[in-house]
Amino acid sequence: MLKKELGVYSLSDLLFEFPFRYVDKTQLNLIKDISSDGESVMLKGTLFNMRHVKGKRSRRLVANLKDSSGIIELVWFQGASWIHTTLEEGMIYTCYGKVNIYNGKKTIPHPELEAVAGHQKVKTKMTMDPVYHSTEKLNAKGLDGKFRKKVIQSIFKQMDRAELYETIDPYLIKKLKLCSRFQSILWIHFPQSQEQLDRATKRIKFEEIFFLQLRILLSKERRRSKLRGFIFESVGSKFLKFYNENLGFELTGAQKKVMKEIRADLGSGVHMNRLLQGDVGSGKTIVGMMSILIAIDNGYQSCLLAPTEILAYQHYQSITESLKGVAVRTAFLSGSVKGKKRKQLFQFLEQGDIDLLIGTHAILEDPVLFKNLGLAITDEQHRFGVIQRAKLWNKNPAGPPHILVMTATPIPRTLAMTLYGDLDVSVIDELPKGRKPVKTVHMTERHRPESIEFMHKEIQKGRQIYIVFPLIDESATLDLQNLQTGYEDLLQFFPKPDFQISVVHGRMKAKDKEAEMKRFVDHKTQIMVATTVIEVGVNVPNASIMIIENAERFGLSQLHQLRGRVGRGAEQSYCILMTGYKLSKNAKERIQTMCNTNNGFEIAEVDMRLRGHGDIQGTQQSGVSDFKLISLISDQVIIETARNLALLILDEDPDLTEDKHQLLKNRLKKINFKFKDWGLIS
Ligand code: ADP
Ligand code: MG
Repeated sequence: MLKKELGVYSLSDLLFEFPFRYVDKTQLNLIKDISSDGESVMLKGTLFNMRHVKGKRSRRLVANLKDSSGIIELVWFQGASWIHTTLEEGMIYTCYGKVNIYNGKKTIPHPELEAVAGHQKVKTKMTMDPVYHSTEKLNAKGLDGKFRKKVIQSIFKQMDRAELYETIDPYLIKKLKLCSRFQSILWIHFPQSQEQLDRATKRIKFEEIFFLQLRILLSKERRRSKLRGFIFESVGSKFLKFYNENLGFELTGAQKKVMKEIRADLGSGVHMNRLLQGDVGSGKTIVGMMSILIAIDNGYQSCLLAPTEILAYQHYQSITESLKGVAVRTAFLSGSVKGKKRKQLFQFLEQGDIDLLIGTHAILEDPVLFKNLGLAITDEQHRFGVIQRAKLWNKNPAGPPHILVMTATPIPRTLAMTLYGDLDVSVIDELPKGRKPVKTVHMTERHRPESIEFMHKEIQKGRQIYIVFPLIDESATLDLQNLQTGYEDLLQFFPKPDFQISVVHGRMKAKDKEAEMKRFVDHKTQIMVATTVIEVGVNVPNASIMIIENAERFGLSQLHQLRGRVGRGAEQSYCILMTGYKLSKNAKERIQTMCNTNNGFEIAEVDMRLRGHGDIQGTQQSGVSDFKLISLISDQVIIETARNLALLILDEDPDLTEDKHQLLKNRLKKINFKFKDWGLIS
């Protein structure tokens, strides 16, 4: 039953199913204060008037408890005779139970009584009673929380302390002032004070994150030392031609720094597995492109994957454009490339007649094979799972390609350490010169005329405008309606032929989407009405206004992404968040955060706090959701301590061969047995 319902296979599993809350039995209630049905109370009083009462079918035991404020009735339906013998009238008891209020009469059925002055045998002394998760099936079989508590108590009574052996070496325990492992497990179940509970919690949390960090860092090291990466020694003619002739601007300091980091990887024979983080508009594409040119100059193929067809195609267009005159054979692949064209592309790719393949998930499909893929870049990787990235490895007879993962979705530090702790991280923390921060305002329907007027003014100045509608419903039809109504409303204020409006949504054929996008990119239309398909990556520097309808329906990181579509040119850009009048507390905070800051990391922190880390995409793949106690949101200090300590230890003793690290080493062996090859992909 426990196996089926809880996945508990052994006594030790049971020990590691922690209580999810505690009932504080140190707080006494007064009988007169009891007011609600179902309330759990702790009383202290004198037992009197104990008697058997005959019911229709059976006998029950009834007694009264009296404290300084009043009297309440206690009742037992089962085991009446036996319980009778264990209680004594006139004695003072603590009494714990759930109150039943029926017709104004208060009773406590089956209370737990404990003699206070007690010549009676005192049970395990507890001030905080553990409450365990249970299920209806378990309860029905009597395997409820109370039963669990008893079992765990008896495990502790019978087991040898050594069975809950220590896993962290003594000098570390001392340094961190941790309680022992045994102590922590005992106290997490049966704390006798808040302090004990705190200490147990701290130790268990630390252990959860500490061994994960050790594992992450060890597997990163193993990858670095075992896996040979292709060596791209030279910076060749294509790179130089592009750099000297095509690149129309000076790289930012941050872009240069990141290029150096990437070049160091590519030249050294290690296998690159690098995360490139940079806020929207920070210029990651150029960095990716230059890395690609290095690969091509050294005789290798490259690929660039993007999460959506629109984004992939835009990359294809803008990269081909900016590579004009540089001899790079570039091809595009998505689901919509079909038939003969597709077949031929596969053939060229395998023969090595394509240098750079840009596309969607289609690149990961089975028939796609490279001749010698040297570098694979994924843009906006939060839509690419670990498993998909691993697929890239199998596309290449020559061996695993270098991996560069680019993302504008800022990842809070603690999450990055855990999710991407085995990737090397590069950060572009500087925007290109001359960028003016986007001004963000919050508006409601009342401000609609102002916003229309403002749009007119900006269009007159030659600017372009995005208007984004949310996915309100899972049903695409409704969303479309929403978008269409919006579009028709707009037509009244921006009539043809003076004004042209593009419409792009998820249900359009790829070809039509593309054509509409192109009209906007080519400035044939002034306004683009769209669903969130334009969320990531799209780059139209002349578009300087982003209007988000029903902004309250978007998550923070999505709002930030959308806003990142503007502010790419030299003009002052604006983001208008349109909402209804009534906002939830959470929505208010999201809107306010957007109005207050353009800093992606700040936004990510708020986002994580508002949503909870479990909700953040990709966490399931990492073991992060297996955590029992630690929270990536509120336990930053513990996480950072664990990360730093793990770094320090492995720095000093990379293979954990020193005597003082033998407990750690043994523990890791046990864990690694469970997670084979965990760190090699990612
Ligand atoms: P993101 O990091 O969001 O992917 P992009 O790579 O799309 O950003 O770059 C945004 C815009 O900034 C592009 O139009 C790009 O050409 C331009 N850009 C990139 N680097 C620089 C730079 N150093 N100076 C000026 N403009 C730049
Ligand atoms: Mg981008």
